[in-house]
Amino acid sequence: MRRWNGWGDETYSQALHAGAAAYLGRVMGEGVRPEDAAPADVVATVPPSRLPPHPLANTSGLDRVLHARGQSLPDWIALRTGRIPAFPDAVAYPTEEAQVRELLRYASAVGARLIPYGAGSSVVGHVNVLPGEAPVLTVDMGRLNRLIYLDEISQLATFEAGVLGPEIEAQLRARGFTLGHYPQSFELSSLGGWVVTRSNGQQSMGYGRIEGMFAGGRLESPSGTLVLPPFPASAAGPDLREVVLGSEGRLGILTQATVRIRGIPEAEEFRGVFFPNFEQGQAAVREMMQARLPLSMLRLSTEIETETTLALAGREGLIRWLKEYLSWRGIREGRALLILGATGSRSGVSYGRSEALAVARRHGGVDSGTLFGKEWRKSRWRSPYLRNTLWEAGYALDTLETATCWQDVSRMIQAIEAALRPGLEDIGEKVYCFTHISHTYPWGSNIYTTYLYRIPANGDPDETLRRWRVLKGAASRAIVATGGTITHQHGIGTDHQPYLSAEKGPLGMAALEDLAARFDPQGMMNPGKLLGA
Ligand SMILES: Cc1cc2nc3c(=O)[nH]c(=O)nc-3n(C[C@H](O)[C@H](O)[C@H](O)COP(=O)(O)OP(=O)(O)OC[C@H]3O[C@@H](n4cnc5c(N)ncnc54)[C@H](O)[C@@H]3O)c2cc1C
Repeated sequence: MRRWNGWGDETYSQALHAGAAAYLGRVMGEGVRPEDAAPADVVATVPPSRLPPHPLANTSGLDRVLHARGQSLPDWIALRTGRIPAFPDAVAYPTEEAQVRELLRYASAVGARLIPYGAGSSVVGHVNVLPGEAPVLTVDMGRLNRLIYLDEISQLATFEAGVLGPEIEAQLRARGFTLGHYPQSFELSSLGGWVVTRSNGQQSMGYGRIEGMFAGGRLESPSGTLVLPPFPASAAGPDLREVVLGSEGRLGILTQATVRIRGIPEAEEFRGVFFPNFEQGQAAVREMMQARLPLSMLRLSTEIETETTLALAGREGLIRWLKEYLSWRGIREGRALLILGATGSRSGVSYGRSEALAVARRHGGVDSGTLFGKEWRKSRWRSPYLRNTLWEAGYALDTLETATCWQDVSRMIQAIEAALRPGLEDIGEKVYCFTHISHTYPWGSNIYTTYLYRIPANGDPDETLRRWRVLKGAASRAIVATGGTITHQHGIGTDHQPYLSAEKGPLGMAALEDLAARFDPQGMMNPGKLLGA
């Protein structure tokens, strides 16, 4: 069963071992466990629905609570403390495309706003109900989850858009195929959500971004149906798939998506390589990318993230031994860990590994074998559960991401961390932050920063939220000022909206607004997300 006020399945939790808890206490001060609101008390705050009855519209209090917010830190603060300012007036669970069309018709007829809901894993406010006069209908796509057609000859699979990551892989793998899209939210995010937020999987270097996988599909909009045939390529003017990618529910509901799949890889390997410092690691990663080596993942941590990984790993004896070995090889304080993944045929993996290790050696890298790679692989879906544990230990955790060209990567990391680290000094609180680059291109890289701060000892949600606003605002302004995109993979939602126009410019923003008006003349689709309400 899904956790109602945190991440993941409620039957699993990721423990924080004693050494890790002590480490956090040292770097940020002791945390105090905040009190959670009880689900029944939150359900009791749900007001009567403003929507007239419809057979597909469910108005139960619990369904409305479960669809009120996503997974951003402000969402967590609202859910954990039970202070949720607005709920959908009803939730619908269509099981066929015709029902989606009917729900669009109903919402339009009764003057409702409609929020498409994939799995609610958004971390930037995409699915939140914003307070307002108009009633809100949330359309949960989770029951539209079938494999419609598998074209084995062309390696194309058409799914209903509400299908979740594990269901996609299970159905494809049973037939000898894979999609290979593995965001860290894989367990609880949907194909439709991936497409319309331009999501990016952990092995995007090998499998590509969702933009490259999305071959076509069907979008039901208030103005009609947009059909995107899965051409292998086309020169027929601007590509309308690009209009759907990143549309964040503003244009309509994606009901089906055809994706480009491939055979299950024969071999896969992840290994850890340590560099004397982040700059040398970065130079090696850039060289590997520019040489177009056949790898599936390069994830390079800065010094602080490397030390945090080692401190939180828990296996103290082994880590001590590793540090001694690295020290003997000349790698000491300041070291940077690269997880290097290769996926494909046996010979391709072997070639990728040996070429990548040769580049790494030229930049001072030391191969530590597959231990760290195996650990990373084992915990790839488990590490987000730590956020629950940390919250319960009194620490709020959020992540930030951007992308920029290679020449600005170090400057960007410094700018983001310099904005975050002293952000709560005025109230005597420490912010702990660390960074990695994990989606790299020949031209540049994403930058992914994790930051933690203490929840106030009295658990005050307003103060927890104020601290987040101060930090998120400072880091976002630093990203814009340093010339990065406001988001490489999480999308715009509400939280990144103030920074979008800096990137698109006035003509670009006007063109996006015109597009939304063409698909949705009444402005009923997910207003306030991506673009203004
Ligand atoms: C722990 C964690 C780890 C994450 N890791 C990653 C990561 O590695 N990479 C990454 O890219 N993102 C990541 N995310 C962010 C999030 O998972 C992605 O943005 C994901 O694509 C959202 O999918 P969803 O199905 O949950 O969509 P939702 O959160 O339900 O919705 C997101 C947006 O898409 C719209 N939408 C959803 N389905 C449809 C549809 N069928 N038609 C039209 N609009 C629709 C919604 O209206 C909303 O605007 C992570 C989030 C969490 C909580």
